[in-house]
Amino acid sequence: MPLSANNPDRKSWLHVDKNSDFPIQNIPFGVFLTRDDIITIGTRIGDTAIDLGALHQLGYFKGIPLTEDIFLQDTLNDFIADGRKTWRLVRDRIADIFDSENTSLKNNKKHKEVVLFRLDEIEMQLPVLIGDYTDFYSSKEHATNVGTMFRDPDNALLPNWLHIPVGYHGRSSSIIPSGIPVHRPQGQTLPGDAKEPVFGPSKLVDFELEMAFITTDANDLGEPIPIEEAEAYIFGLVVFNDWSARDIQKWEYVPLGPFLAKNFASSISPWIVTLDALEPYRVEGPKPIKPQLEYLQYKGKKSFDINLEVAIQPKGAKETVVSKSNFKYMYWNMAQQLTHHTVNGCPINSGDMMGSGTISGPTPDSYGSMLELSWRGENPIKMKDGTERKFINDHDTVIMRGFCEKDGTRIGFGEVKTELLPVFSKK
Ligand code: MN
Repeated sequence: MPLSANNPDRKSWLHVDKNSDFPIQNIPFGVFLTRDDIITIGTRIGDTAIDLGALHQLGYFKGIPLTEDIFLQDTLNDFIADGRKTWRLVRDRIADIFDSENTSLKNNKKHKEVVLFRLDEIEMQLPVLIGDYTDFYSSKEHATNVGTMFRDPDNALLPNWLHIPVGYHGRSSSIIPSGIPVHRPQGQTLPGDAKEPVFGPSKLVDFELEMAFITTDANDLGEPIPIEEAEAYIFGLVVFNDWSARDIQKWEYVPLGPFLAKNFASSISPWIVTLDALEPYRVEGPKPIKPQLEYLQYKGKKSFDINLEVAIQPKGAKETVVSKSNFKYMYWNMAQQLTHHTVNGCPINSGDMMGSGTISGPTPDSYGSMLELSWRGENPIKMKDGTERKFINDHDTVIMRGFCEKDGTRIGFGEVKTELLPVFSKK
């Protein structure tokens, strides 16, 4: 099925700035609260938010098999569960409705009044009810840096790393959309030469630059997903800041892995960019260093060229970009991750979220966490306001952005922007 929504020559009758992340070729999906306090599923072209619930009620999706209330919901889970064929029909139809050649909605003032919103009239919500959240550890550069710092520079990668897309089960209750502030967590740490742990605020709060993909219902209990089918179950991606407390992590992670250092908050960009929209930006991934078992071997391009950056903005000051990385550096791709996740028969549901793991590139300015950028705090990062950062300070805002660009067409994710507040205290 051709993805007519991806046609690079298509123009919209809605205004789109030249450097917008959201041209008519993007058509992401999200959930927002409107100026009338109504929650709806929507999309975005340029800086205009589009109420898909209203469009559907007005008959613009005629001919596509959709239930009446599919967009009048506070999550995308049911729409995602309808499957890839439906996502494609809807995305192609939206492209058609807003095409500069199509005047049906363009010339209908009454309809436009209920369908279109300025961004300052809406409030973005969490786009899906995330049932299960898994976080992988799939950047070789990141795993090597962390292994070098915490274990042994000569054997930085553990023996399983080149064979398994390593992951752990995270917690979905603390996943929040961009704009919701996060409190500095408290917990147990083992300071310097201490013999016994202490309790208090984490001193080493960090971000993790990640992307996450959102799945549809994929398999029954016991049924593995073959690698050539895996991408059919991926709805789309978001930029993902997997907040981490490094001092808590260091003390607690043996032997079962991350726990409270990782589950106090994880922030996502609110618009899910579909895998279909990212189709033009496929690239080859890194060549396997060791042969991979047959169920993880794939054909074709399964990596995506997505530019990523992280900025830190101290309160009242200008932001400083501290890292520029790319999703294409991932050693294990999404198809391998999803295939591995289900190879034992673990079921994947609509609205599950899979984090990539911190995405570090090959150069020190492309590392995806302060732990690596400041190398455990040994090399503080200079900020534009003259201050320095080893980790994240109270009232710093961390901003992550992602976009693809090729042949003059840009598809982006917008941003995920989160302020770190001091430790929680009851008012
Ligand atoms: Mn993570």
